[in-house]
Amino acid sequence: MMGQISDRVSRLAASATFAMMQKSNELSAQGVDVVNMSVGEPDFNTPDYVKKAAIEAVEANYSKYSPVPGYMWLRKACSDKLKRENNLDYTPAEILVSTGAKQSLCNVIMAIVNPGDEVLLPSPCWVSYPEMVKLAGGVPVVIKAGIDQDFKVTAAQIEAAITPRTKAMMICSPSNPTGSVYSREELESIGKMLAGYPDVFIVSDEIYEHINFIGGHQSLAQFVDKDRIAVINGVSKAYAMTGWRIGFMAGPEWLVKACNKLQGQYTSGTCSVAQKAAQVAFDGPQDDVEKMRQVFQKRRDLIVSLAKEVPGFEVNNPQGAFYLFPKCDSYFGKRYGDKVINSAEDLAMYLLEVGHVATVGGTAFGSPECIRFSYATSEEKIVEAFRRVKKALAALE
Ligand code: PMP
Ligand code: GLU
Repeated sequence: MMGQISDRVSRLAASATFAMMQKSNELSAQGVDVVNMSVGEPDFNTPDYVKKAAIEAVEANYSKYSPVPGYMWLRKACSDKLKRENNLDYTPAEILVSTGAKQSLCNVIMAIVNPGDEVLLPSPCWVSYPEMVKLAGGVPVVIKAGIDQDFKVTAAQIEAAITPRTKAMMICSPSNPTGSVYSREELESIGKMLAGYPDVFIVSDEIYEHINFIGGHQSLAQFVDKDRIAVINGVSKAYAMTGWRIGFMAGPEWLVKACNKLQGQYTSGTCSVAQKAAQVAFDGPQDDVEKMRQVFQKRRDLIVSLAKEVPGFEVNNPQGAFYLFPKCDSYFGKRYGDKVINSAEDLAMYLLEVGHVATVGGTAFGSPECIRFSYATSEEKIVEAFRRVKKALAALE
């Protein structure tokens, strides 16, 4: 019956991040002591005041279908957050709450991309962007930035990739997988250039907003017309709430309506209890967010110094998120017994099977010369991981 699988799904790549997380978990289940630096999720617990709000919501019988675009009080909390933290004006009617920022992104792509439309992807980019575009029948157009440019594309590079078929661009800052953060000036120059191409819609993924080591977040939405941008955010990363599955899109009302229609046929409104928790996360005290940010910054300093000591690794100094994306292609062609490391995926598998450190190969992020480490784990584990990585790499011939 395998032949019954649609072309749409056959063409789709499985999520490389979740695949490596699963491999790592399988090995752990066999009793192997693995340091898991594959999937990107904070290792902290959700703050207590958020958990309490959810417990209260259960007791107050928040157990019915929620409105498809999210409860009005949560849309209002999102709109207040955008004003307070980003100085962006969005009414609650311009917000749509979804089951994670992942659904918010996919909603937008499904709502605007027609078969054959091109979507620009400044790259390295998150594994799900090209697949979402493919799901919609669109054509992912990768614009590559190497480590020599801190993995950030220039306005000129984006402009050179625009064609009459360009429908949209997806940009992420702070970035997964590189941790790079576009400066205010860089975003402004991209915004100015895009003003000359009013038909290109912009999807700005700001899910790592609060994990920022340069003193504050800048949104591309400051520099483009509001009618042509969707700002994506959520609670997963800032509030250590990956499992609660709440994300949102802020955008023009025509897009909110289209995504609402899609969501109404596909998943309905997201979990009612999680919505209450998210409201309290946005409206409540933000001290925990800052505490976690500081811990991430210390870990960033640690992992960068450790990675610089690894022979053959080339690293940038990430300014946000919790990823390091070393260039590691100097190991390609090396051998371990009768096995040859031909790619970043081979290297990631070798590090997992021999070094017992789980990472993700860079190909799925558009950079076959790199591997990704998620440092959302303790300092002890980061130190232990790099001890193992160095030892395993030294054993290659
Ligand atoms: N965008 C990026 C760049 C991400 O890394 C993630 C991580 N999962 C998401 C969106 C989706 O987050 P969520 O958990 O809210 O779906
Ligand atoms: N965004 C995280 C990562 O890149 C979580 C997994 C996923 O959604 O891809 O590892």
